[in-house]
Amino acid sequence: MRSDEISGMTVAAAADAMRAGKFSSEELVRAVFDAIDERDGLIGAYLTVDRDGALKEAKTADARRRAGESGDLLGIPVAMKDIFNVKNQPCTCASKILKGYIAPYDATVTAKLRTAGAVPAGRVNMDEFAMGTSTEHSAFKITHNPAALDRVPGGSSGGSAAAVAGGMALASLGTDTGGSIRQPASFCGCVGLKPSYGRVSRYGVTAFASSLDQVGPITKTVEDAAIILGAIAGADSRDQTVLDKPVPNYRAELRGASLKGLRIGVPDEYFVDGTDPEVMSLVRGAIDKCENAGAQVSRISLPHTRYAIAVYYICATAEASANLARFDGIRYGARCADAGSSLQSLYDRTRTEGFGKEVKRRIILGTYVLSSGYYDAYYSRALKARTLIRRDFEKAFSECDVIMAPVAPTPAYKLNSTVNDPLKSYLGDVFTVPANLAGICGISIPCGRTAADGLPVGLQILGPAFGETVLLRAAKACETEFGL
Ligand code: GLN
Repeated sequence: MRSDEISGMTVAAAADAMRAGKFSSEELVRAVFDAIDERDGLIGAYLTVDRDGALKEAKTADARRRAGESGDLLGIPVAMKDIFNVKNQPCTCASKILKGYIAPYDATVTAKLRTAGAVPAGRVNMDEFAMGTSTEHSAFKITHNPAALDRVPGGSSGGSAAAVAGGMALASLGTDTGGSIRQPASFCGCVGLKPSYGRVSRYGVTAFASSLDQVGPITKTVEDAAIILGAIAGADSRDQTVLDKPVPNYRAELRGASLKGLRIGVPDEYFVDGTDPEVMSLVRGAIDKCENAGAQVSRISLPHTRYAIAVYYICATAEASANLARFDGIRYGARCADAGSSLQSLYDRTRTEGFGKEVKRRIILGTYVLSSGYYDAYYSRALKARTLIRRDFEKAFSECDVIMAPVAPTPAYKLNSTVNDPLKSYLGDVFTVPANLAGICGISIPCGRTAADGLPVGLQILGPAFGETVLLRAAKACETEFGL
């Protein structure tokens, strides 16, 4: 099998080809490694690749196939964001503080992928501890957007999107706390699915903001996203926030997906000045196509959207400041060589050296909003506003099946253009964070490219909590309609 075949290959097509005996998982995994060798020098999506381990697992998958198994993920290599624990592999979250850390166990999503026969084939770059929108906050390397190498791939799951878009992975897993799956998918021209809060286990996934984090796939098609969600979703005795609801066969549910009669809500608050005109017109054009194909499109209002960025950056940093307290140079990862003479100096020096600028900024902000005297003014008010944002969506979904909007106000921007301007980068999250605050599901699918630079632009579709079937059917129908 040739390495350049990885570019156009979907999970579904590879599974069919392996069922038909056209190639083995071992050949497929080798082709992925060849593609990485040929292309990743320019793109920089991967941090580490465990070739021997992956080939061993590919052989096991081939043996399972010979013994009669035939699942959609059997023998499929999946690139993993460097935030998921995969037993005996590094898990650094792109941070110096976790340099040298080797995961002693599998995250539940890793274990579920393995049960389905998938092969975790390499760890991909991200913003440190998933804080960022451009992957430039990785402590280890810059990742370039395969569609335009002088631009960012988005973030924080930039490596996950760049690996897929760059023809170096069939599919990948990312996490989305405030847009980190949907936004890089949009920037790189992939499909990125953020499941509802409580649909997928977070056990073994390094926590950023526990009430917002969700795991999901970045793929080339909606069908592949459905296949992976079907494998990773569902109850977990180790994560009590996962609801014990049956997991539908999401792939089978896509059959007959149509836009006819679909009630699409278009929120006024997501079509505002400041959004790039080309993004606006591509997204509006996509919605028009849905209407022409028989959908009922109506204007809706999500009036508390204007508080979303502030609420998100209070809740997310508050939770991060608590979650990151575990990185102290004793329990995990690296320790400052010159620790000083007290426990406090060991903590101080390890964290000063180990955490990057953006992570420190968030810990400080989070500690501030939780401190006595400010808690009521910031954190407690943010929680109240969060409830209002969730209610906006509940009301909207009583009137429509899905919501359509842009994913981000701009297409992929040039490297180095926001990295020293945190506020500018935070404002870019305006259309993605509300879904996390409300716990609902969302997806980004490609809806065209900018005329000037040929940059991919995503359409965001949002569905109600646990409405993944409706969401994926709508996305599938769009994919068929737009032909992308
Ligand atoms: N860009 C957002 C942030 O920096 C979201 C990140 C994420 O979803 N992990 O916090």
